[in-house]
Amino acid sequence: MLNIVIFGAPGSGKGTQSAKLIDKYGLFHISTGEVLREHIKNGTELGKIADSYISKGQLIPDELMISILDSVLEQQAKAGISGVVFDGFPRTIPQAEALNGLLQKRGTELHAVIGLEVPEEELIDRMLSRGKLTGRADDNPDTIKNRLQVYHNQTHPLREYYTKEEKYLAINGMGIVDEIFNEISTGLEAKTGIKSTK
Ligand code: AMP
Repeated sequence: MLNIVIFGAPGSGKGTQSAKLIDKYGLFHISTGEVLREHIKNGTELGKIADSYISKGQLIPDELMISILDSVLEQQAKAGISGVVFDGFPRTIPQAEALNGLLQKRGTELHAVIGLEVPEEELIDRMLSRGKLTGRADDNPDTIKNRLQVYHNQTHPLREYYTKEEKYLAINGMGIVDEIFNEISTGLEAKTGIKSTK
């Protein structure tokens, strides 16, 4: 059972590379952004709260986000799935600390953090194109600006946190999707011993 975080700024390619990781290694995908967007789409109480933060480009408060993740992990355990790609979580140091606890209480741990590193101008271009293509509401110029600010202030410090824990694997997130994925696979297999299930 292998647990991986895919880490990076908004627009760095986390969703795209997660899809390839779950396909190659038979892992379960948890995207906290997708979980929240699903709640918004279904008009739940949680969705209403989430929308008020997401539309401003702010983070959902840690305590709420951690309890949401805890219940997603509970459902996953009931379904008997092992090994997770965490996409979009953690985004703050308290979330990273909570993740350790959530995994520990399930008898497992975090094995590696894949960091997709992409320059800011490219992130902005990618999010603007995605907004046009998919209609994703928070991919608009004002919200993008806030999301990048929040990333720098609250999320980027995790790079150092996980480097100290010797879990961080820096990946150049610029270029062709398949080439980036090859770099991820090579690094991940060397670091963790994970093998393709294909
Ligand atoms: P994403 O799809 O990962 O880009 O997430 C979209 C938005 O959902 C973010 O801009 C946040 O408002 C919210 N969100 C997703 N994951 C988290 C998290 N771990 N902590 C707080 N807010 C989150």
